[in-house]
Amino acid sequence: MGSDAEIKARLEGELRQAVERLRQQGGAIVVEDYPGAVGDDRPLANSMDEIQINGEQDIGLATRSILAERVNRLAEALERLRRGNYGLCEECGGPIAPTRLKAMPEVTTCVSCQDRIERERSRSDRWELNRSDIARVFFYAEGNAQENEE
Ligand SMILES: [Zn+2]
Repeated sequence: MGSDAEIKARLEGELRQAVERLRQQGGAIVVEDYPGAVGDDRPLANSMDEIQINGEQDIGLATRSILAERVNRLAEALERLRRGNYGLCEECGGPIAPTRLKAMPEVTTCVSCQDRIERERSRSDRWELNRSDIARVFFYAEGNAQENEE
């Protein structure tokens, strides 16, 4: 991987793309800021604040959920980068393989941890972010508030 600045630029670019796709498919993005927690630099929050609810298209909730999850993960990755622990597996603390980060810059776990988590996640709440020190991004499916619809 390149420098932090390069990683940041890529993450921001992918985040904007994902947000745009989500918006086009009828999702809404809400950004909650925690003043003082992430410093004064909040370009992503600024850009996403402008996004409006724009959805009457009948796109499957699953499609939007996948996009929403990606938005959340990209936003989290940017926060990890800001805190200096980007590229470390949040499960085992080990380094994530550079090739894996290059393929999926938003990943939070190494391959072996991810395999386990994906199995566990199939029945758990995948939307909850537990951190209190990041700009939290939530997804709302307009007019269809059910979560974890399978
Ligand atoms: Zn791991």
